[in-house]
Amino acid sequence: MQNAAGSGGWPGSCNLSACMPVPDRLAIRGDLLDFVATPALTDAAAEGGAAVRFLPDHWLLVEAGRIVGRQLQDPGDGWSREDHRGHLVLPGFVDTHVHMPQLDVIASHGADLLDWLEHYTFPAERRYADPEVSRAGAEVFADALLAHGTTAAVVFPTVHAVSAEAMAAAAHARGMRCITGKVLMDRHAPDGLRDADAVTADRELRAGIARWHGTGRQAQAVTVRFAPCSTPEQLALAGRLMAEVPDLYMQTHVAENRDEVRWVAELFPEARSYLDVYHRAGLLGPRAVLAHGIWLDDTDRALLAETGAQIAHSPTSNLFLGSGLMDWQALQAAGTAVSLASDVGGGTSLSMVRTMAAAYQVQALQGAKAGAWALLHAATRGAAQALQLGHEIGSFETGGVADVCVWDWAAGPVGVRRDALVRTLHERVFAWLTLADERHLVKTWVAGQVRHQRGATIVPREDLR
Ligand SMILES: [Zn+2]
Repeated sequence: MQNAAGSGGWPGSCNLSACMPVPDRLAIRGDLLDFVATPALTDAAAEGGAAVRFLPDHWLLVEAGRIVGRQLQDPGDGWSREDHRGHLVLPGFVDTHVHMPQLDVIASHGADLLDWLEHYTFPAERRYADPEVSRAGAEVFADALLAHGTTAAVVFPTVHAVSAEAMAAAAHARGMRCITGKVLMDRHAPDGLRDADAVTADRELRAGIARWHGTGRQAQAVTVRFAPCSTPEQLALAGRLMAEVPDLYMQTHVAENRDEVRWVAELFPEARSYLDVYHRAGLLGPRAVLAHGIWLDDTDRALLAETGAQIAHSPTSNLFLGSGLMDWQALQAAGTAVSLASDVGGGTSLSMVRTMAAAYQVQALQGAKAGAWALLHAATRGAAQALQLGHEIGSFETGGVADVCVWDWAAGPVGVRRDALVRTLHERVFAWLTLADERHLVKTWVAGQVRHQRGATIVPREDLR
């Protein structure tokens, strides 16, 4: 971590256009909501209970990009005051699994996982070998995250080193917390989407780590597309890097679709399960993020808990591709961390609000009624903690980086009427996450700097990229 932007912090990140000076002392007024503990999945405590910190009509105080306090009284003239009374103020969302190049194929019809990859995803990803396509794609993607209230993300680029470079550079230019790394694939992928050889892949990974791991708010992840696309030798290479480089993340997919699970069993007959393929390669640990985790058994869930690896639950993707229903209760019972993820382009929206609403429906189909608290927690503090970043993001704790979003509590005739009739805080927040989307987002700050404002375009200065 370095000092926050606005006080000589991240190089290239304190670069709003000249018409929007960065205040050193910022105070944001509104209904502050964050978490101080982990709510149970079905906790629907009317006024929030012990896990929820709700401070209606309070000021969130930010100095030099970091949160320094929360208070009821107006902090006075020494602060640049942003009055959003009557609005919901949340920590920026954390999306723990999303694909930068797949904005180009979101909402493509008629496929399940394996033919989705073949017909939509892989052809789109081949274009990112071109550095200019990667640069432009990453810029659009980073701005789109901010326009959906997401200020931190764990991102798949493509197999091309230039795409990972572009993603880290785009996030860095905006001061965003981003975890990414070039994708590893050396088999079962078309020409133009396979690593040339192990030596080249190793060199590219190490170059990405040297350039970006620990630079500003960037971190690198060993990014295994999924077990079928990597030879055992490549998985071993990934495991060696995990053992060698401190604090490196690992991201991949696991047990998303039944055909995929059968395929993995054929490819890795020695493994006990799909998850075990990664375990044997030394890829599971507290910085491992595995998307989906639908077709797991109790032994797998216990292994996840034991290693500290988390499941990035991607409900809109799972519904859209017809992959299955992730059993959050079983993971919670095993002690496995579950965060929420959009998984665009399999997912149908970058909005973590829509993701929360879909997560509720996926659990409802299995007889569990998730509370608003667990859903919101999994998209903020829970995700941050599962990434070992609870000190930096996901809440309004003093000392954290001021990644903050202001939201309309309601919009449109249906939302406004429903909001007017709520009787409890839980009812209000649940109605919000069920009915709202990114159009409810008023403003996004990253490290105390405005990075998105409804109706305005905020472009990082070209010369500082
Ligand atoms: Zn994915």
